[in-house]
Amino acid sequence: MAAIGIDLGTTYSCTGIWQHNRVEIIVNEQGNRTTPSCVAFTRHERLVGDAANNQINTNPTNTVFAIKRLIGRRFSDDSVQKDIALWPFKVVPGPLDKPKIVIEYKGEEKQFYPEEISAMVLAKMKQVAEAYLDCTVSNAVVTVPAYFSDSQRRSTRDAATIAGLNVMRIMDEPTAAALAYGFDKITDKYREKRVLIFDLGGGTFDVSLVNIKNGIFEVKATAGDTHLGGEDIDERMVKHFTEQFRRKHKKDISGDPKAMQRLRTACERAKRTLSFASQTTVEVDCLYDGIDFHSHISQARFEELNMDLFSKCMDLTEKCLQDAKVDKTSIDVIVLVGGSTRIPKVQQLLQASFNGKDLCRSINPDEAVAYGAAIQAANLNSQCNKDLQDLVLVDVTPLSLGVEVAGGVMSVVIPRNTPIPTKMNKIFTTIHDNQTRVRQKVYEGERALTKDNNFLGEFSLSGIPPASAEVPKIDVCFEIDANGILNVSATHTLSGHQSEMLVTNAESTHSKYCWVLKPRNDSCETLT
Ligand code: AMP
Repeated sequence: MAAIGIDLGTTYSCTGIWQHNRVEIIVNEQGNRTTPSCVAFTRHERLVGDAANNQINTNPTNTVFAIKRLIGRRFSDDSVQKDIALWPFKVVPGPLDKPKIVIEYKGEEKQFYPEEISAMVLAKMKQVAEAYLDCTVSNAVVTVPAYFSDSQRRSTRDAATIAGLNVMRIMDEPTAAALAYGFDKITDKYREKRVLIFDLGGGTFDVSLVNIKNGIFEVKATAGDTHLGGEDIDERMVKHFTEQFRRKHKKDISGDPKAMQRLRTACERAKRTLSFASQTTVEVDCLYDGIDFHSHISQARFEELNMDLFSKCMDLTEKCLQDAKVDKTSIDVIVLVGGSTRIPKVQQLLQASFNGKDLCRSINPDEAVAYGAAIQAANLNSQCNKDLQDLVLVDVTPLSLGVEVAGGVMSVVIPRNTPIPTKMNKIFTTIHDNQTRVRQKVYEGERALTKDNNFLGEFSLSGIPPASAEVPKIDVCFEIDANGILNVSATHTLSGHQSEMLVTNAESTHSKYCWVLKPRNDSCETLT
């Protein structure tokens, strides 16, 4: 049974398969090695990939892109609100604060959850693989940014399930890229390599430090931002030219989705040109009110517009190294991943911060993640190859996980950058005399107060025998599986009563996976 690796990107997706003792990147029906993560709805049909992307300028309100920025997030999130303000398609609040995309399809209004749109992209990747391999494909490894939250991981897994895929593993993108870089070097068994994966794609930035030795790929630390990538860079240019148009023609185009989308497409093209030319032109015929738009932009101006975004990437890289407690001089290789690492200023800043160290450009930044995912898929599929069988991947959890205690304080149960899978316990107690029930809220994040962190869910434990405050002992167990997905349970240590339920903040509408509590009949290590 074939097993594929899918890099489900914000702007492009890519699929790989292990065949004939190597990875092959699967080309789509247009002959392209990557496929736009774009879905369009027309009067007659639904289009996915290149076909959807090709008509985006003429049908902007019914062409959905960058859905990875919505998946697993709440409608009321600041980042969601900011994105919605820029997108030509409509997003409304759904049940449990989940965003819903509203489009017109075959003359009727339709609403979709982000998981459903992502599922359409994944189904397309499945279909492309099936056509290429001439067989049914159901098993897949799907990648996500290392910095994706629990809810974003769950929603991605749900999307794959809707697409008819059996998700063998949700894998972190930088880990997949490290595998792409290091797999053919596994034979170099005795030397440990410290590899920095710098991944700046269309929507997200991830940086990870990975140690490779004896076929073991161990992620030491990871940092990133799930809302920092090429789309933000494009938006800076769009804003710049919208202002220019307003000043020159005294007209505001920002309320016209078609004009904005046409300008966005022209800016993205200009951005790519500026990766190898010192200046370029941006031209859009009949942009607004019959006015043709024609302007120039230099590489220097482009860099000025985006310098804070580039600097943020450098700051996060420092944070990753600090977390890993590793000195810059001990990094062996810096691997560039993601289309936006082609920007010369990004490369310059990175190289300068490592005292001029050469950057590794030997792997294709657009395909590295799918390449690594395909190796992992073959490994989990027990395909026979000595190096595949010897491969061990050790990932870490990107965010600390814990519960809220008195005063709204975050009590961390699993600290960030803990290797996964993992299981950790902490003992809690009651605040009031004769308290027979506790409600405990679960959060992820690094801030001291839970109000500044990300709320994941809540569980309650009842049946605690009456006792004075601070006497009962409640053993809370956090367990993260190899996909980076969390399960929580709580037990009263004397009576053995277990938590009854756990409510997630983003109860999935399609999910057969939920926060079901498993009975605990094993014993866990106690931390406090
Ligand atoms: P990825 O998510 O890795 O597929 O990266 C896609 C992002 O890379 C998009 O935002 C593209 O606009 C951007 N990109 C691709 N090629 C270039 C280039 N030559 N210069 C700058 N950005 C690029």
